[in-house]
Amino acid sequence: MSAFDQSGYAPSWYTATAMPAPERAPLAADLDVDVCVVGAGLAGLTTAREIARSGWSVAVVEAGRIAWNASGQNCGFVLPGFGAGIRNIVERVGLDRARELWALSEGGLAYVRATVHETGMPGVDPVDGWLNVSKVDDADRIIATLQLLGNDLGAEVEGWASDRVRDVLKSECYFNAIHFPRAFHLHPLNYALGLAAAAEAAGAHIFEHTPAVAIDPAGVRKRITTPHGRLRAAHVVLAGNVHIGALMPRLAATLLPIWTYLASTAPLGPRLADAIAYYGAVSDGERADNHYRIVDGDRLLISGRATMWESDPRRFAADLAADIAKLYPQLGAVEIEHRWSGVLGRTIHGMPQIGEHSPGIWLASGFGGHGFNTTAMAGNLIARAIVDGDDAWRLFLPFELIWAGGLAGRVAGQVGYWWSRSRAERRAQKARNRAAGDQQAEPVRRRPAPARNRTARAAPPETPPVAAMEVPAVALPADPEPDLLPTRMAEPATSADDQPVGQRPSRLAMKAGRSSR
Ligand SMILES: Cc1cc2nc3c(=O)[nH]c(=O)nc-3n(C[C@H](O)[C@H](O)[C@H](O)COP(=O)(O)OP(=O)(O)OC[C@H]3O[C@@H](n4cnc5c(N)ncnc54)[C@H](O)[C@@H]3O)c2cc1C
Repeated sequence: MSAFDQSGYAPSWYTATAMPAPERAPLAADLDVDVCVVGAGLAGLTTAREIARSGWSVAVVEAGRIAWNASGQNCGFVLPGFGAGIRNIVERVGLDRARELWALSEGGLAYVRATVHETGMPGVDPVDGWLNVSKVDDADRIIATLQLLGNDLGAEVEGWASDRVRDVLKSECYFNAIHFPRAFHLHPLNYALGLAAAAEAAGAHIFEHTPAVAIDPAGVRKRITTPHGRLRAAHVVLAGNVHIGALMPRLAATLLPIWTYLASTAPLGPRLADAIAYYGAVSDGERADNHYRIVDGDRLLISGRATMWESDPRRFAADLAADIAKLYPQLGAVEIEHRWSGVLGRTIHGMPQIGEHSPGIWLASGFGGHGFNTTAMAGNLIARAIVDGDDAWRLFLPFELIWAGGLAGRVAGQVGYWWSRSRAERRAQKARNRAAGDQQAEPVRRRPAPARNRTARAAPPETPPVAAMEVPAVALPADPEPDLLPTRMAEPATSADDQPVGQRPSRLAMKAGRSSR
Protein backbone atom coordinates (compact mmCIF):
# COMPACT_ATOMS: atom_id res chain seq x y z
CA MET A 1 0.00 0.00 0.00
CA SER A 2 1.45 3.36 -1.03
CA ALA A 3 2.07 5.92 1.72
CA PHE A 4 1.75 8.75 -0.80
CA ASP A 5 -0.51 11.55 0.42
CA GLN A 6 -3.03 11.86 -2.42
CA SER A 7 -4.78 15.06 -1.29
CA GLY A 8 -4.73 17.62 -4.08
CA TYR A 9 -4.14 14.96 -6.76
CA ALA A 10 -6.80 13.38 -8.98
CA PRO A 11 -6.66 9.60 -8.52
CA SER A 12 -4.78 7.72 -11.24
CA TRP A 13 -2.57 4.68 -11.62
CA TYR A 14 0.30 7.08 -10.97
CA THR A 15 -1.03 8.26 -7.60
CA ALA A 16 -1.80 4.63 -6.70
CA THR A 17 1.86 3.76 -7.30
CA ALA A 18 3.52 7.02 -6.22
CA MET A 19 6.49 7.08 -3.90
CA PRO A 20 5.99 8.67 -0.48
CA ALA A 21 6.76 12.39 -0.59
CA PRO A 22 6.43 15.16 2.01
CA GLU A 23 3.77 17.83 1.62
CA ARG A 24 5.56 21.19 1.42
CA ALA A 25 4.27 24.00 3.65
CA PRO A 26 2.85 27.17 2.08
CA LEU A 27 4.91 30.36 2.12
CA ALA A 28 4.03 32.10 5.40
CA ALA A 29 6.57 34.96 5.58
CA ASP A 30 8.35 37.42 3.32
CA LEU A 31 11.39 36.09 1.48
CA ASP A 32 14.19 37.55 -0.64
CA VAL A 33 15.69 35.32 -3.33
CA ASP A 34 17.64 35.64 -6.54
CA VAL A 35 14.96 33.85 -8.58
CA CYS A 36 11.27 33.10 -8.01
CA VAL A 37 9.74 30.32 -10.13
CA VAL A 38 5.95 30.25 -10.49
CA GLY A 39 4.70 26.67 -10.95
CA ALA A 40 6.03 23.31 -9.77
CA GLY A 41 5.42 21.26 -12.91
CA LEU A 42 8.32 19.78 -14.85
CA ALA A 43 9.31 23.17 -16.32
CA GLY A 44 9.42 25.01 -12.99
CA LEU A 45 11.13 22.19 -11.12
CA THR A 46 13.87 21.73 -13.73
CA THR A 47 14.52 25.48 -13.85
CA ALA A 48 14.69 25.68 -10.05
CA ARG A 49 17.02 22.70 -9.79
CA GLU A 50 19.44 24.07 -12.36
CA ILE A 51 19.47 27.56 -10.85
CA ALA A 52 20.03 26.13 -7.37
CA ARG A 53 22.84 23.92 -8.65
CA SER A 54 24.60 27.09 -9.77
CA GLY A 55 24.58 28.38 -6.21
CA TRP A 56 21.82 30.99 -6.65
CA SER A 57 18.90 31.21 -4.21
CA VAL A 58 15.58 30.14 -5.70
CA ALA A 59 12.02 29.70 -4.43
CA VAL A 60 9.21 27.86 -6.25
CA VAL A 61 5.61 28.83 -5.51
CA GLU A 62 2.99 26.27 -6.50
CA ALA A 63 -0.74 26.97 -6.32
CA GLY A 64 -1.60 23.30 -5.71
CA ARG A 65 0.59 20.24 -5.26
CA ILE A 66 3.82 19.38 -7.08
CA ALA A 67 3.01 18.07 -10.59
CA TRP A 68 -0.69 17.68 -9.79
CA ASN A 69 -1.73 18.13 -13.42
CA ALA A 70 0.00 17.55 -16.80
CA SER A 71 3.45 16.88 -15.34
CA GLY A 72 2.25 14.09 -13.08
CA GLN A 73 -0.65 12.80 -15.17
CA ASN A 74 0.87 12.34 -18.63
CA CYS A 75 1.73 9.23 -20.62
CA GLY A 76 5.35 9.27 -19.47
CA PHE A 77 6.88 9.13 -22.97
CA VAL A 78 10.27 10.86 -23.12
CA LEU A 79 10.88 11.58 -26.80
CA PRO A 80 13.04 13.84 -28.94
CA GLY A 81 11.43 16.64 -30.97
CA PHE A 82 8.64 19.16 -30.43
CA GLY A 83 4.87 19.46 -30.67
CA ALA A 84 5.34 21.15 -34.06
CA GLY A 85 6.00 18.88 -37.01
CA ILE A 86 9.67 18.91 -37.95
CA ARG A 87 8.87 19.84 -41.55
CA ASN A 88 7.11 22.99 -40.32
CA ILE A 89 10.13 23.85 -38.21
CA VAL A 90 12.49 23.42 -41.17
CA GLU A 91 10.23 25.61 -43.30
CA ARG A 92 10.13 28.28 -40.62
CA VAL A 93 13.77 28.54 -39.60
CA GLY A 94 15.75 26.59 -42.23
CA LEU A 95 17.60 23.31 -41.95
CA ASP A 96 20.60 24.57 -39.94
CA ARG A 97 18.48 26.15 -37.20
CA ALA A 98 16.14 23.15 -37.24
CA ARG A 99 19.15 20.91 -36.66
CA GLU A 100 20.16 23.03 -33.65
CA LEU A 101 16.64 22.92 -32.27
CA TRP A 102 16.44 19.16 -32.75
CA ALA A 103 19.77 18.74 -30.91
CA LEU A 104 18.41 20.85 -28.03
CA SER A 105 15.33 18.63 -27.88
CA GLU A 106 17.54 15.55 -27.70
CA GLY A 107 19.53 17.30 -24.96
CA GLY A 108 16.28 17.58 -22.97
CA LEU A 109 15.72 13.85 -23.32
CA ALA A 110 19.30 13.13 -22.26
CA TYR A 111 18.84 15.41 -19.22
CA VAL A 112 15.84 13.41 -18.01
CA ARG A 113 17.73 10.14 -18.45
CA ALA A 114 20.81 11.49 -16.65
CA THR A 115 18.72 12.94 -13.80
CA VAL A 116 17.02 9.59 -13.20
CA HIS A 117 20.39 7.85 -13.02
CA GLU A 118 22.33 10.51 -11.07
CA THR A 119 19.72 10.91 -8.35
CA GLY A 120 18.67 7.25 -8.17
CA MET A 121 15.08 8.46 -7.78
CA PRO A 122 12.78 5.56 -6.83
CA GLY A 123 9.73 4.22 -8.68
CA VAL A 124 10.55 5.80 -12.05
CA ASP A 125 11.23 2.55 -13.95
CA PRO A 126 12.56 3.84 -17.30
CA VAL A 127 12.10 1.48 -20.25
CA ASP A 128 13.83 2.13 -23.59
CA GLY A 129 12.31 2.66 -27.01
CA TRP A 130 9.46 4.38 -28.82
CA LEU A 131 7.68 2.86 -31.80
CA ASN A 132 5.69 5.33 -33.90
CA VAL A 133 3.46 3.02 -35.93
CA SER A 134 1.47 3.78 -39.05
CA LYS A 135 -2.07 2.54 -39.58
CA VAL A 136 -1.70 3.06 -43.34
CA ASP A 137 0.72 1.25 -45.62
CA ASP A 138 2.75 4.24 -46.76
CA ALA A 139 6.37 3.16 -47.05
CA ASP A 140 7.37 6.21 -49.12
CA ARG A 141 6.34 8.63 -46.41
CA ILE A 142 8.17 6.61 -43.76
CA ILE A 143 11.34 6.58 -45.87
CA ALA A 144 11.14 10.34 -46.42
CA THR A 145 10.66 10.87 -42.69
CA LEU A 146 13.59 8.61 -41.88
CA GLN A 147 15.73 10.53 -44.30
CA LEU A 148 14.83 13.92 -42.84
CA LEU A 149 15.25 12.81 -39.24
CA GLY A 150 18.27 10.59 -39.71
CA ASN A 151 20.28 12.12 -42.52
CA ASP A 152 19.37 15.79 -42.24
CA LEU A 153 18.91 16.18 -38.49
CA GLY A 154 21.22 13.45 -37.22
CA ALA A 155 18.56 11.63 -35.17
CA GLU A 156 18.99 7.96 -34.34
CA VAL A 157 16.01 6.29 -36.00
CA GLU A 158 15.19 2.96 -37.59
CA GLY A 159 12.52 1.97 -40.11
CA TRP A 160 10.61 -1.17 -39.21
CA ALA A 161 8.72 -2.99 -41.96
CA SER A 162 5.18 -4.21 -41.32
CA ASP A 163 6.22 -7.81 -40.67
CA ARG A 164 8.69 -6.75 -38.00
CA VAL A 165 6.09 -4.48 -36.39
CA ARG A 166 3.53 -7.28 -36.37
CA ASP A 167 6.06 -9.68 -34.83
CA VAL A 168 5.90 -7.59 -31.66
CA LEU A 169 2.55 -5.76 -31.92
CA LYS A 170 0.18 -8.52 -32.96
CA SER A 171 -2.42 -6.29 -34.55
CA GLU A 172 -3.92 -6.29 -38.03
CA CYS A 173 -4.22 -2.50 -37.71
CA TYR A 174 -0.49 -1.83 -38.07
CA PHE A 175 1.91 -1.40 -40.97
CA ASN A 176 5.36 0.22 -41.00
CA ALA A 177 6.88 2.10 -38.09
CA ILE A 178 9.70 4.40 -37.09
CA HIS A 179 11.64 3.25 -34.07
CA PHE A 180 13.47 5.69 -31.78
CA PRO A 181 15.78 3.45 -29.74
CA ARG A 182 17.02 6.28 -27.47
CA ALA A 183 13.56 7.42 -26.42
CA PHE A 184 12.07 5.86 -23.30
CA HIS A 185 9.11 5.90 -20.96
CA LEU A 186 8.85 6.29 -17.21
CA HIS A 187 6.50 6.99 -14.28
CA PRO A 188 5.96 10.77 -14.62
CA LEU A 189 4.68 11.52 -11.13
CA ASN A 190 7.56 9.72 -9.45
CA TYR A 191 9.97 11.52 -11.77
CA ALA A 192 8.48 14.92 -10.81
CA LEU A 193 8.59 14.06 -7.10
CA GLY A 194 12.21 12.94 -7.51
CA LEU A 195 13.01 16.12 -9.42
CA ALA A 196 11.50 18.24 -6.63
CA ALA A 197 13.64 16.39 -4.07
CA ALA A 198 16.72 16.92 -6.26
CA ALA A 199 15.94 20.66 -6.55
CA GLU A 200 15.62 20.90 -2.76
CA ALA A 201 18.84 18.94 -2.28
CA ALA A 202 20.53 21.58 -4.44
CA GLY A 203 19.12 24.35 -2.21
CA ALA A 204 15.77 25.33 -3.79
CA HIS A 205 12.75 26.12 -1.58
CA ILE A 206 9.37 24.78 -2.72
CA PHE A 207 6.09 26.12 -1.33
CA GLU A 208 2.89 24.21 -2.14
CA HIS A 209 -0.61 25.73 -1.79
CA THR A 210 0.99 29.09 -2.60
CA PRO A 211 -0.54 30.81 -5.63
CA ALA A 212 1.25 33.88 -6.96
CA VAL A 213 -1.64 36.34 -7.08
CA ALA A 214 0.19 39.45 -8.32
CA ILE A 215 3.57 40.37 -9.75
CA ASP A 216 5.07 43.84 -9.80
CA PRO A 217 7.71 43.53 -12.53
CA ALA A 218 9.05 47.08 -12.21
CA GLY A 219 12.52 47.75 -10.90
CA VAL A 220 15.50 45.54 -10.27
CA ARG A 221 13.76 43.54 -7.51
CA LYS A 222 10.39 42.19 -8.68
CA ARG A 223 7.67 41.70 -6.06
CA ILE A 224 5.53 38.56 -6.07
CA THR A 225 2.46 38.52 -3.84
CA THR A 226 1.05 35.29 -2.41
CA PRO A 227 -1.78 34.95 0.14
CA HIS A 228 0.48 34.74 3.22
CA GLY A 229 3.86 36.09 2.20
CA ARG A 230 5.67 38.26 -0.33
CA LEU A 231 8.76 37.39 -2.34
CA ARG A 232 11.32 39.75 -3.79
CA ALA A 233 13.46 38.42 -6.61
CA ALA A 234 15.76 39.72 -9.35
CA HIS A 235 14.23 37.27 -11.83
CA VAL A 236 10.81 35.65 -12.09
CA VAL A 237 10.25 32.52 -14.19
CA LEU A 238 6.63 31.96 -15.24
CA ALA A 239 6.17 28.19 -15.58
CA GLY A 240 2.43 28.01 -14.97
CA ASN A 241 1.22 26.49 -18.25
CA VAL A 242 -2.51 27.06 -18.88
CA HIS A 243 -3.08 27.54 -15.14
CA ILE A 244 -1.34 30.95 -15.17
CA GLY A 245 -4.58 32.62 -16.35
CA ALA A 246 -5.59 34.38 -13.13
CA LEU A 247 -2.13 35.93 -12.82
CA MET A 248 -1.35 36.56 -16.51
CA PRO A 249 -4.57 36.29 -18.53
CA ARG A 250 -3.08 37.58 -21.77
CA LEU A 251 -0.18 35.15 -21.62
CA ALA A 252 -2.56 32.29 -20.86
CA ALA A 253 -4.62 33.36 -23.89
CA THR A 254 -1.71 32.37 -26.13
CA LEU A 255 -2.30 28.70 -25.21
CA LEU A 256 -5.05 26.40 -26.43
CA PRO A 257 -5.96 24.16 -23.48
CA ILE A 258 -6.35 20.51 -24.53
CA TRP A 259 -7.58 17.81 -22.17
CA THR A 260 -6.64 14.24 -22.98
CA TYR A 261 -7.70 11.03 -21.32
CA LEU A 262 -5.86 8.04 -19.92
CA ALA A 263 -6.80 4.66 -18.54
CA SER A 264 -4.94 1.69 -17.14
CA THR A 265 -6.24 -1.84 -17.12
CA ALA A 266 -6.39 -4.40 -14.37
CA PRO A 267 -3.55 -6.97 -14.60
CA LEU A 268 -4.05 -8.91 -17.85
CA GLY A 269 -1.74 -11.84 -17.13
CA PRO A 270 0.21 -13.69 -19.86
CA ARG A 271 -2.33 -12.81 -22.58
CA LEU A 272 -0.88 -9.28 -22.70
CA ALA A 273 2.62 -10.53 -23.57
CA ASP A 274 1.05 -12.78 -26.22
CA ALA A 275 -0.46 -9.69 -27.88
CA ILE A 276 2.27 -7.11 -27.21
CA ALA A 277 5.88 -8.23 -27.11
CA TYR A 278 7.36 -4.72 -27.20
CA TYR A 279 8.01 -3.01 -23.87
CA GLY A 280 8.84 0.49 -25.09
CA ALA A 281 6.28 3.24 -25.74
CA VAL A 282 3.91 2.94 -28.71
CA SER A 283 2.08 5.68 -30.62
CA ASP A 284 -0.17 4.87 -33.54
CA GLY A 285 -1.91 6.79 -36.27
CA GLU A 286 -1.01 10.19 -37.58
CA ARG A 287 -2.24 12.49 -34.87
CA ALA A 288 -5.47 11.46 -33.37
CA ASP A 289 -5.08 7.95 -32.09
CA ASN A 290 -3.59 6.11 -29.14
CA HIS A 291 -0.41 6.12 -27.13
CA TYR A 292 0.18 3.14 -24.88
CA ARG A 293 2.71 1.14 -22.91
CA ILE A 294 2.90 -1.85 -20.62
CA VAL A 295 3.25 -0.98 -16.93
CA ASP A 296 3.53 -3.08 -13.83
CA GLY A 297 4.43 -6.16 -15.92
CA ASP A 298 0.98 -6.93 -17.29
CA ARG A 299 -1.20 -3.81 -17.30
CA LEU A 300 -1.81 -1.66 -20.35
CA LEU A 301 -1.76 2.12 -19.85
CA ILE A 302 -3.39 3.88 -22.80
CA SER A 303 -4.28 7.44 -23.74
CA GLY A 304 -6.43 8.94 -26.44
CA ARG A 305 -9.22 11.41 -27.27
CA ALA A 306 -8.96 15.16 -26.88
CA THR A 307 -11.37 17.88 -25.82
CA MET A 308 -10.91 21.63 -25.66
CA TRP A 309 -13.08 21.73 -22.53
CA GLU A 310 -12.66 19.68 -19.40
CA SER A 311 -14.71 16.50 -19.36
CA ASP A 312 -15.15 13.64 -16.90
CA PRO A 313 -12.51 10.96 -17.61
CA ARG A 314 -15.09 8.28 -16.80
CA ARG A 315 -16.84 9.26 -20.04
CA PHE A 316 -13.82 8.12 -22.05
CA ALA A 317 -12.92 4.90 -20.22
CA ALA A 318 -15.26 2.80 -22.38
CA ASP A 319 -13.88 4.44 -25.55
CA LEU A 320 -10.32 3.59 -24.55
CA ALA A 321 -11.35 -0.01 -23.74
CA ALA A 322 -12.97 -0.16 -27.20
CA ASP A 323 -9.72 1.10 -28.76
CA ILE A 324 -7.84 -1.74 -27.04
CA ALA A 325 -10.43 -4.28 -28.28
CA LYS A 326 -10.10 -2.98 -31.84
CA LEU A 327 -6.31 -3.13 -31.80
CA TYR A 328 -5.99 -6.41 -29.92
CA PRO A 329 -9.23 -8.42 -30.08
CA GLN A 330 -7.31 -11.48 -28.87
CA LEU A 331 -7.13 -9.87 -25.39
CA GLY A 332 -10.86 -10.41 -24.91
CA ALA A 333 -12.68 -8.41 -22.26
CA VAL A 334 -10.43 -5.92 -20.51
CA GLU A 335 -11.24 -4.29 -17.20
CA ILE A 336 -10.28 -0.62 -16.80
CA GLU A 337 -9.09 -0.04 -13.24
CA HIS A 338 -7.99 3.61 -13.32
CA ARG A 339 -9.02 6.52 -15.55
CA TRP A 340 -7.89 10.14 -15.40
CA SER A 341 -7.13 13.18 -17.54
CA GLY A 342 -4.74 16.11 -17.78
CA VAL A 343 -4.61 19.42 -19.61
CA LEU A 344 -1.76 20.60 -21.80
CA GLY A 345 -1.19 24.03 -23.32
CA ARG A 346 -0.61 24.11 -27.05
CA THR A 347 0.72 27.13 -28.89
CA ILE A 348 -0.53 28.01 -32.36
CA HIS A 349 2.83 27.12 -33.95
CA GLY A 350 3.32 24.06 -31.75
CA MET A 351 6.66 25.30 -30.38
CA PRO A 352 7.28 26.08 -26.72
CA GLN A 353 7.42 29.61 -25.31
CA ILE A 354 10.93 30.01 -23.94
CA GLY A 355 12.71 33.26 -23.23
CA GLU A 356 12.77 36.68 -21.60
CA HIS A 357 9.40 38.35 -21.88
CA SER A 358 10.36 41.67 -20.27
CA PRO A 359 13.49 42.53 -18.25
CA GLY A 360 13.87 39.86 -15.55
CA ILE A 361 10.55 38.16 -16.39
CA TRP A 362 11.10 34.78 -18.08
CA LEU A 363 8.61 32.46 -19.69
CA ALA A 364 8.79 28.64 -19.84
CA SER A 365 5.46 27.42 -21.16
CA GLY A 366 3.45 26.01 -24.08
CA PHE A 367 5.11 22.59 -24.23
CA GLY A 368 2.06 20.90 -25.73
CA GLY A 369 2.07 17.12 -25.79
CA HIS A 370 5.85 16.97 -25.98
CA GLY A 371 6.68 18.33 -22.56
CA PHE A 372 9.06 15.83 -21.02
CA ASN A 373 12.10 16.64 -23.11
CA THR A 374 11.16 20.25 -23.85
CA THR A 375 10.54 21.26 -20.20
CA ALA A 376 13.97 19.82 -19.36
CA MET A 377 15.49 21.73 -22.26
CA ALA A 378 13.69 24.96 -21.28
CA GLY A 379 14.71 24.70 -17.62
CA ASN A 380 18.34 24.38 -18.63
CA LEU A 381 18.19 27.17 -21.23
CA ILE A 382 16.58 29.62 -18.81
CA ALA A 383 18.87 28.72 -15.92
CA ARG A 384 21.93 29.24 -18.16
CA ALA A 385 20.49 32.53 -19.42
CA ILE A 386 19.87 33.89 -15.90
CA VAL A 387 23.07 32.61 -14.31
CA ASP A 388 25.58 32.89 -17.17
CA GLY A 389 23.90 35.27 -19.63
CA ASP A 390 23.84 32.46 -22.21
CA ASP A 391 21.53 33.40 -25.08
CA ALA A 392 20.84 29.99 -26.66
CA TRP A 393 17.15 30.54 -25.80
CA ARG A 394 17.06 33.08 -28.66
CA LEU A 395 16.74 30.17 -31.09
CA PHE A 396 13.07 30.26 -30.05
CA LEU A 397 12.56 33.95 -30.92
CA PRO A 398 11.02 33.15 -34.33
CA PHE A 399 8.19 31.43 -32.46
CA GLU A 400 6.33 34.41 -31.06
CA LEU A 401 3.47 34.66 -28.61
CA ILE A 402 0.34 34.39 -30.72
CA TRP A 403 -3.21 34.66 -29.41
CA ALA A 404 -4.85 31.21 -29.46
CA GLY A 405 -8.23 32.55 -30.54
CA GLY A 406 -10.22 32.41 -27.30
CA LEU A 407 -13.56 30.65 -27.59
CA ALA A 408 -13.42 30.53 -31.40
CA GLY A 409 -9.98 28.93 -31.23
CA ARG A 410 -11.28 26.24 -28.94
CA VAL A 411 -14.28 25.50 -31.13
CA ALA A 412 -12.05 25.34 -34.20
CA GLY A 413 -9.60 23.09 -32.35
CA GLN A 414 -12.37 20.69 -31.31
CA VAL A 415 -13.92 20.52 -34.78
CA GLY A 416 -10.46 20.10 -36.31
CA TYR A 417 -9.70 17.25 -33.94
CA TRP A 418 -12.95 15.41 -34.73
CA TRP A 419 -12.41 15.94 -38.45
CA SER A 420 -8.81 14.70 -38.47
CA ARG A 421 -9.73 11.74 -36.29
CA SER A 422 -12.51 10.61 -38.58
CA ARG A 423 -10.29 11.13 -41.63
CA ALA A 424 -7.55 9.03 -40.00
CA GLU A 425 -10.07 6.28 -39.19
CA ARG A 426 -11.31 6.19 -42.78
CA ARG A 427 -7.77 5.99 -44.14
CA ALA A 428 -6.86 3.23 -41.68
CA GLN A 429 -9.96 1.23 -42.58
CA LYS A 430 -9.17 1.54 -46.29
CA ALA A 431 -5.60 0.36 -45.67
CA ARG A 432 -6.84 -2.68 -43.74
CA ASN A 433 -9.35 -3.53 -46.47
CA ARG A 434 -6.69 -3.19 -49.15
CA ALA A 435 -4.27 -5.40 -47.21
CA ALA A 436 -6.96 -8.04 -46.64
CA GLY A 437 -7.92 -7.91 -50.35
CA ASP A 438 -4.28 -8.17 -51.44
CA GLN A 439 -3.78 -11.20 -49.27
CA GLN A 440 -6.85 -12.99 -50.64
CA ALA A 441 -6.18 -12.13 -54.26
CA GLU A 442 -2.43 -12.48 -54.57
CA PRO A 443 -0.65 -13.39 -51.38
CA VAL A 444 2.78 -13.25 -53.05
CA ARG A 445 2.67 -9.63 -54.36
CA ARG A 446 3.17 -7.05 -51.63
CA ARG A 447 3.81 -3.34 -51.76
CA PRO A 448 7.47 -2.49 -51.25
CA ALA A 449 8.13 -1.64 -47.61
CA PRO A 450 11.14 -0.32 -45.72
CA ALA A 451 13.73 -3.04 -45.33
CA ARG A 452 13.69 -4.92 -42.05
CA ASN A 453 15.43 -2.78 -39.45
CA ARG A 454 16.43 -0.23 -42.07
CA THR A 455 18.19 2.77 -40.61
CA ALA A 456 17.92 6.29 -41.94
CA ARG A 457 21.40 6.09 -43.37
CA ALA A 458 20.29 3.23 -45.60
CA ALA A 459 17.60 5.41 -47.21
CA PRO A 460 17.98 6.42 -50.89
CA PRO A 461 20.84 8.91 -51.25
CA GLU A 462 19.09 11.64 -53.25
CA THR A 463 17.19 14.29 -51.31
CA PRO A 464 13.43 13.94 -51.85
CA PRO A 465 11.50 17.01 -52.98
CA VAL A 466 10.22 19.07 -50.08
CA ALA A 467 6.63 18.05 -50.83
CA ALA A 468 7.57 14.41 -50.26
CA MET A 469 9.02 15.21 -46.86
CA GLU A 470 5.65 15.57 -45.16
CA VAL A 471 6.53 14.49 -41.66
CA PRO A 472 3.81 13.59 -39.22
CA ALA A 473 3.93 15.71 -36.09
CA VAL A 474 5.38 13.27 -33.60
CA ALA A 475 3.17 14.88 -31.01
CA LEU A 476 1.96 13.47 -27.75
CA PRO A 477 -0.86 13.26 -27.14
CA ALA A 478 -2.87 13.99 -30.26
CA ASP A 479 -2.70 17.70 -30.95
CA PRO A 480 -5.24 19.11 -33.38
CA GLU A 481 -3.70 20.09 -36.67
CA PRO A 482 -2.61 23.72 -36.51
CA ASP A 483 -3.76 24.29 -40.05
CA LEU A 484 -7.30 23.53 -38.91
CA LEU A 485 -7.25 26.47 -36.55
CA PRO A 486 -8.38 29.82 -37.95
CA THR A 487 -5.76 30.84 -40.50
CA ARG A 488 -5.73 34.42 -39.28
CA MET A 489 -4.25 33.20 -36.02
CA ALA A 490 -2.09 30.47 -37.47
CA GLU A 491 -0.49 32.79 -39.98
CA PRO A 492 3.22 32.78 -39.17
CA ALA A 493 4.68 36.02 -37.96
CA THR A 494 7.65 37.39 -39.86
CA SER A 495 10.62 35.41 -38.71
CA ALA A 496 12.97 37.34 -36.45
CA ASP A 497 15.76 36.03 -38.61
CA ASP A 498 14.33 37.71 -41.69
CA GLN A 499 15.00 41.10 -40.12
CA PRO A 500 18.29 43.00 -40.07
CA VAL A 501 20.24 42.20 -36.92
CA GLY A 502 19.78 45.61 -35.34
CA GLN A 503 16.00 45.35 -35.72
CA ARG A 504 15.53 41.82 -34.39
CA PRO A 505 13.42 41.60 -31.26
CA SER A 506 15.59 40.83 -28.27
CA ARG A 507 12.71 39.45 -26.20
CA LEU A 508 9.79 37.12 -26.63
CA ALA A 509 7.26 39.48 -28.16
CA MET A 510 3.49 39.24 -28.31
CA LYS A 511 2.42 39.36 -31.93
CA ALA A 512 0.51 42.51 -32.93
CA GLY A 513 1.86 44.38 -29.93
CA ARG A 514 0.08 42.24 -27.38
CA SER A 515 1.84 42.14 -24.07
CA SER A 516 0.95 40.54 -20.80
CA ARG A 517 0.94 43.66 -18.72
C1 LIG B 1 -2.77 13.66 -20.63
C2 LIG B 1 -1.43 14.17 -21.04
C3 LIG B 1 -0.49 13.28 -21.56
C4 LIG B 1 0.78 13.75 -21.94
N1 LIG B 1 1.73 12.85 -22.33
C5 LIG B 1 2.99 13.28 -22.57
C6 LIG B 1 4.03 12.35 -22.85
O1 LIG B 1 3.85 11.14 -22.83
N2 LIG B 1 5.27 12.85 -23.12
C7 LIG B 1 5.52 14.19 -23.11
O2 LIG B 1 6.66 14.59 -23.40
N3 LIG B 1 4.56 15.08 -22.80
C8 LIG B 1 3.31 14.66 -22.51
N4 LIG B 1 2.35 15.55 -22.16
C9 LIG B 1 2.71 16.97 -22.06
C10 LIG B 1 3.44 17.28 -20.74
O3 LIG B 1 2.86 16.58 -19.67
C11 LIG B 1 3.37 18.79 -20.49
O4 LIG B 1 3.80 19.49 -21.63
C12 LIG B 1 4.26 19.21 -19.33
O5 LIG B 1 4.03 18.41 -18.20
C13 LIG B 1 4.01 20.68 -19.00
O6 LIG B 1 4.74 20.98 -17.83
P1 LIG B 1 4.59 22.42 -17.17
O7 LIG B 1 5.51 22.46 -16.02
O8 LIG B 1 4.74 23.46 -18.23
O9 LIG B 1 3.05 22.53 -16.75
P2 LIG B 1 2.17 21.91 -15.57
O10 LIG B 1 2.52 20.50 -15.29
O11 LIG B 1 0.76 22.21 -15.93
O12 LIG B 1 2.60 22.74 -14.30
C14 LIG B 1 2.28 24.11 -14.17
C15 LIG B 1 2.11 24.39 -12.69
O13 LIG B 1 2.05 25.79 -12.47
C16 LIG B 1 1.18 26.02 -11.39
N5 LIG B 1 0.72 27.41 -11.43
C17 LIG B 1 0.08 28.04 -12.45
N6 LIG B 1 -0.19 29.32 -12.13
C18 LIG B 1 0.30 29.51 -10.88
C19 LIG B 1 0.33 30.62 -9.98
N7 LIG B 1 -0.21 31.82 -10.31
N8 LIG B 1 0.93 30.48 -8.78
C20 LIG B 1 1.49 29.29 -8.43
N9 LIG B 1 1.47 28.19 -9.23
C21 LIG B 1 0.89 28.30 -10.44
C22 LIG B 1 0.06 25.02 -11.62
O14 LIG B 1 -0.66 24.78 -10.42
C23 LIG B 1 0.82 23.81 -12.12
O15 LIG B 1 1.14 22.91 -11.10
C24 LIG B 1 1.07 15.12 -21.82
C25 LIG B 1 0.12 16.01 -21.32
C26 LIG B 1 -1.11 15.54 -20.93
C27 LIG B 1 -2.11 16.51 -20.35
